[in-house]
Amino acid sequence: MAGAGLDRVLLNFRVLLGLSATALLAQLPAGDRARVLASMDASAPRYGELSRQLWEFAEVGYKEERSARLLINDFKANGFRVQEQAGGIPTAFTATWGQGRPVIAILGEFDALPGMSQEPGPRRKAVRANAAGHACGHNLLAAGAAMAAVAVRDHLMEKRLAGTIRFHGTPAEEGGAGKVYLIRAGAFEGADVALMWHPSSSNRGDLATGLAISGGRFRFRGIAAHAAAAPWAGRSALDGAVLMAHAVDMLREHIPPEARLHYIFSNGGAAPNVVPDFAELQLYARHPRMAALDAIWERVRKTALGAALATDTNAGIEIEHSSWEILPNEPLTALADKNLRIVGGVKYTAEEQAFAEELRRSEGLLPAVPGSQETIEPVLTQSSTSTDLGDVSWLMPTIQFSAAAWVPGVSAHTWQATACSGTGIGRKGMAVGAKVLALTALDLFHDSKQVEAARAAFEKKRGGQIYRSRIPEGRKAPLDYRAR
Ligand SMILES: [Zn+2]
Ligand SMILES: [Zn+2]
Repeated sequence: MAGAGLDRVLLNFRVLLGLSATALLAQLPAGDRARVLASMDASAPRYGELSRQLWEFAEVGYKEERSARLLINDFKANGFRVQEQAGGIPTAFTATWGQGRPVIAILGEFDALPGMSQEPGPRRKAVRANAAGHACGHNLLAAGAAMAAVAVRDHLMEKRLAGTIRFHGTPAEEGGAGKVYLIRAGAFEGADVALMWHPSSSNRGDLATGLAISGGRFRFRGIAAHAAAAPWAGRSALDGAVLMAHAVDMLREHIPPEARLHYIFSNGGAAPNVVPDFAELQLYARHPRMAALDAIWERVRKTALGAALATDTNAGIEIEHSSWEILPNEPLTALADKNLRIVGGVKYTAEEQAFAEELRRSEGLLPAVPGSQETIEPVLTQSSTSTDLGDVSWLMPTIQFSAAAWVPGVSAHTWQATACSGTGIGRKGMAVGAKVLALTALDLFHDSKQVEAARAAFEKKRGGQIYRSRIPEGRKAPLDYRAR
């Protein structure tokens, strides 16, 4: 985008956010920026290949051994100090370069989703049936984040700037609450700011809080009996679970409409002719505010207790994971938005255009404007997703933003997202995400007043609220949660 247009956008953005006129003035000088971007064009093929390897590994939460190893080796080769098994989690790590403040952290997730295997083509076809796949694009997320961290290192070294660039390898974002356990272990201590990009089908900054989430298992225990010969001797654990589900469905009407409740029967007994003595319902509850979610969770808990009472069974309740909503940060989002507009969107080749058109004919896509991958959308202010990045955002100024690594209309957790994440389209989006991350981090290194502005906005927004994870104290990271 031309300079005058960019200035206007920034001015509008400042007015929109009520930021002071000085908040965005200092930034990486244009000459430095051009050199950084050129060097990243040169490193993009190498990190594209790294993303492709992560895509092929497609390892699920806490099992990302080969993925973590690949990233760790790359950081070591680039002169970073690497702490392996950060926080005692086998696949977590912290890679650090530089000295002193500010300490800018870039976060990288690299877990895949079970059952989402898909070829990098426009038609539904698994690479391996039932295998995991990168349907949230975390292969691109991690490789792009690593590419950015190394580019930042290069520039700090060249300019002899003070400060520390850190990369946090954070496992098990998808339902494993990896970052919550890393927080508990103190892995993020000393960082001033946390930056992350996420693959998406559009390019945009993000001021949405998303949804706080708590998820648990409700285990019903009854008495087994022959289902025909002596059913009166049994107490059906499945009846307890089914009745709870019914009560949860009735509860929906009487909780705030922005809440979400979803469940599965993760165990419903073994055979119809045996009264089940064990059944399990797995449930997630979400709401834009953790405080409101607590009240909803308490009522969900009561549905389990009531169902157990009615069916003469016992209900055991375990909170398995929980993440806070994101505490948005306006000054950092303004920087990311500005840098997105400098870097620009993704342009397809004729071949990629043909892939996009064929993919768009598949089922399950959201309405989208073809070609919107080339543009930068207005900053997002509302979303209905949850992430363990939310917990980090209550510790320090934190942002995530999106880059168009997927064809417009493709949403996360679909086979189409796995397909795009393994193609050149995905790698182009990754380069946009990486460049914006690097420029944003370097803006902060060049002018530490921007770190202070982010901190002040963070303190103001956090107010008197005190962060405490809803995952019970003393609980260890559920390293086998994907194997259950
Ligand atoms: Zn996801
Ligand atoms: Zn994700």
